[in-house]
Amino acid sequence: LNLPSKTSIAASINHHSPRPKDRPSSTASSVSAASPSTRRSGTPVHRSQSKDFDDDNGISPFLSLSLYFVYYPYDSPFALTDLMTLHSRAIVSDDHPGRVRVSVRVRPRNGEELKSDADFADLVELQPEIKRLKLRKNNWNSESYRFDEVFTDTASQKRVYEGVAKPVVEGVLSGYNGTIMAYGQTGTGKTYTVGKIGKDDAAERGIMVRALEDILASASSASSVSVEISYLQLYMETIQDLLAPEKSNISINEDGKTGEVSVPGATVVNIQDLDHFFQVLQVGETNRHAANTKMNTESSRSHAILTVYVRRAMNEKAETGTKSPKPESLGDKGIPRVRKSKLLIVDLAGSERINKSGTDGHLIEEAKFINLSLTSLGKCINALAEGSSHIPTRDSKLTRLLRDSFGGSARTSLIITIGPSARYHAETTSTIMFGQRAMKIVNMVKLKE
Ligand code: ADP
Ligand code: MG
Repeated sequence: LNLPSKTSIAASINHHSPRPKDRPSSTASSVSAASPSTRRSGTPVHRSQSKDFDDDNGISPFLSLSLYFVYYPYDSPFALTDLMTLHSRAIVSDDHPGRVRVSVRVRPRNGEELKSDADFADLVELQPEIKRLKLRKNNWNSESYRFDEVFTDTASQKRVYEGVAKPVVEGVLSGYNGTIMAYGQTGTGKTYTVGKIGKDDAAERGIMVRALEDILASASSASSVSVEISYLQLYMETIQDLLAPEKSNISINEDGKTGEVSVPGATVVNIQDLDHFFQVLQVGETNRHAANTKMNTESSRSHAILTVYVRRAMNEKAETGTKSPKPESLGDKGIPRVRKSKLLIVDLAGSERINKSGTDGHLIEEAKFINLSLTSLGKCINALAEGSSHIPTRDSKLTRLLRDSFGGSARTSLIITIGPSARYHAETTSTIMFGQRAMKIVNMVKLKE
């Protein structure tokens, strides 16, 4: 796919995403008024007013970099690349609303790891107070990486939700699309973080349940809000409906005009309350387990995608009010406008190279396909991080599904999960690098209304 420019991506994606500051009585005139704030935030890169150079010391990144070259001490705890990372991060303010949030969480050790692994701390040092993670590169040096949040093995599900998901959920409630994704090696806590149901133990609940709790709470305070979900599994580039496993051949549709991505064949359930959501989620989990047993695979090899659709009627007055509302106070065809947004919560397939796992033909084929969606996600992340105008979103189903919820005015949060053992060195390193690249992404905010 050769997208002409970032501007057009942002424009096509934003077309259907209303500005959060729209007044409820939004009319055609407010739609056409390109607000000054839109213009201000339309600048994706804050070069002059960057506040974020390490600990906000006010030194310009350029100057610091020069000083660093002059005063580079041989035994410096910082690797040069670390400073380069800081430098590139300094260009993009931490407060930038469009920056992808990236957090890292380490799973608590299991019994076996407690017995055998004393050397994890040699590999990774978590520094949650300064939101850094230090990774040993070799015998001589380590590198320190900054994240939005660093969660140790004692971090609660609640704290993880608040640090990772809440800003995105709030965006969705104000009309932005959003995506929350968990990325990491199998067994490092992606499903625990994202999908843990915890019906009877509220403290255990993961991001999906907590997000629904917040969204339903907001919906119950306004009668004009509806909350619907769909729950899909993506396995070997095939979409399966976890709420109606008999359905096959579910395809993705993209509106040529608005860029809006939809999955017309997927079952959509209107969620009444949290108990209802537990039931639906449980059905999804049971179907996922059954489908994977039938296909003789494990859930770690597929992506699970929960989509939450939030719809809010915008101008009820126009619906019930004056006898002859001015035509421009209505949307197309005189129907009251509805503000739609959606939240995608994605439990990604394990990031380990599964082609290591055997020579079995099925597995090789599977590896190719699973790598397709994950590799394609990685490519898109690299392209976005580099500010490239060519974002290869059409290469896989996963990136096609994410197309209008990752980028544009959407808010995105990625949690990477790592295992607490030195034996996962290679995977842990590659997961951290994936996260660091995503840290550089600034989703384009509106350039054009
Ligand atoms: P993944 O989805 O990445 O393959 P899981 O979420 O299934 O990994 O986690 C593997 C195991 O570790 C599960 O038994 C899970 O309950 C447990 N686990 C993961 N993270 C935590 C955590 N933060 N606290 C307690 N148990 C955890
Ligand atoms: Mg899992």
